[in-house]
Amino acid sequence: MFDIPFLRPNLVKKERFSSNFEKIEETRIYSNYGPLNNLFEERVIAQMFDGIGSAVTVHNATVGLILAISQSKRPQGKYAVMPSFTFAATPLAAEWCGLEPYFLDIEPENWQMNREQLEQAVKQLGDEIAVIVPYATFGTAIDLSIYNKLQEQGIPVVIDAAASFGTITPEEATHFGKDFGGAVVFSFHATKSFGIGEGGLVYSLDQDLIKRIRQAGNFGFSSSRESVTQGLNSKISEYTAAIALATLDHFKAVRENRRTIYEYYLQELLQADLLERGWSLQKVQGSVVHQFIPILSPDAHTNQEVVKLLASNSIEARTYFSPACHQQKQFQSYTRSTLHVTEHITKHIVSLPLWEELDQIIVRRIVNVLGSLEKETTG
Ligand SMILES: *Cc1c(COP(=O)(O)O)cnc(C)c1O
Repeated sequence: MFDIPFLRPNLVKKERFSSNFEKIEETRIYSNYGPLNNLFEERVIAQMFDGIGSAVTVHNATVGLILAISQSKRPQGKYAVMPSFTFAATPLAAEWCGLEPYFLDIEPENWQMNREQLEQAVKQLGDEIAVIVPYATFGTAIDLSIYNKLQEQGIPVVIDAAASFGTITPEEATHFGKDFGGAVVFSFHATKSFGIGEGGLVYSLDQDLIKRIRQAGNFGFSSSRESVTQGLNSKISEYTAAIALATLDHFKAVRENRRTIYEYYLQELLQADLLERGWSLQKVQGSVVHQFIPILSPDAHTNQEVVKLLASNSIEARTYFSPACHQQKQFQSYTRSTLHVTEHITKHIVSLPLWEELDQIIVRRIVNVLGSLEKETTG
C-alpha cells in the first residue's frame, strides 16, 4: 500500500441519489432508456451543450466507440486512422467493427494526433479510410476545425473524448465537442473526472446519428422489435442513470476541486523550478477537469526510474499511455507512420496522483520527490 495512491475515486454519495432510487421503485422501470436515463440525457444537452445537439448514454466508452464507429464508418473502408498514443479501447473498438487501426504520431506539445501526417494519410489512403478516430488527449480541447472539414468531405470522424466530459473550449467557452457533426464519445468510468462506476455518453450535432446509435445499442431493434441493424446491448440501467443525475448536480464542485489541485501542481512545479530543469507538461487547450497529472521526465531519466523513485517514497504513479498501442502485442502488426514523438513520450510519460482530498502539502511532497531525481542519480 502507498501513503499516496494514484487515484482515490470519490463517487457521489448515496444520500444524493437515494430519492432517485425511490423513483425507480415507484415506476418499476429498471432499464431500456427509462425516465431517469431520458432525464439525464436531456439535462446533459441543456446544461452542458447549451441545448444544442443530441446524446445517448452507453454502458461504457468502449462500447460507445464501437457503436459510433460502426454507425459512422464508410462501408468500403478498411482503416480506422488514430493516434498510437491512446488507450487500447480505441484500436479494440476499431477491430470489433472489422477495421484495421492505422496509427499516426502525436504532436510534441499538445499530444494530439499529428495533423500533417493525417493530411498525408487522407491523400494516400483515400477511400480506404473508413473512419478517423482522434483522441482529445487527457481531456484537452483539441481544435476540431480540421475534423469538421473532413466530415464535410464525407470522411467520418469519431472523437475519443473519454476524459473530456466537462472540458470547456478556449475560444467559445462552450463544452468541448458542441456543434460537432460526427460522434464525440465520453467515458464515465469511476476513474474519470465524471465518474459513475461504469458508463459513458455519445454526443453529436447529428440527431440521426444518435438515433441510429441508440437503436444499435438496443439490439438494433426497430419500433416493432425487429432487429434491423447490427446491434448489441449498450444500455445503462436506471440505477446508473440515478447516479449519473446526482453526479451531474454535484459536478461543479468536483470541477473546481480538480482545477484547484491542478493549480497546486503548477505552483509547486514552478516553485521547485522543475519546468526549467527538463520536466514538461502537456500544453493544455481550454479548461480541463483533470483526471490525473501527466508530465514528461527530463531526457536523461526514464519514466520507470521516476515511478520507482516515487514508489520508494510511498507515492503511486502510472505511465499512461506507455506502452503506446503500436507497442502492444495485439496491435503490433498494424500499419503505422513514423512515431518519433510517441516513442519519445512513452519513455518519459508519468501520470501523477490526483484525487479530491489532495492538498497543497501532499502535492509539494510529490513534486519534491521529482526534484530529488537528479540529485539521486548524479550525487
Ligand atoms: C477511459 C478511456 C476509454 C475507455 O472508457 P471506458 O468507459 O472505460 O470503456 C477509451 N479511451 C480513452 C482514451 C480512455 O481514457
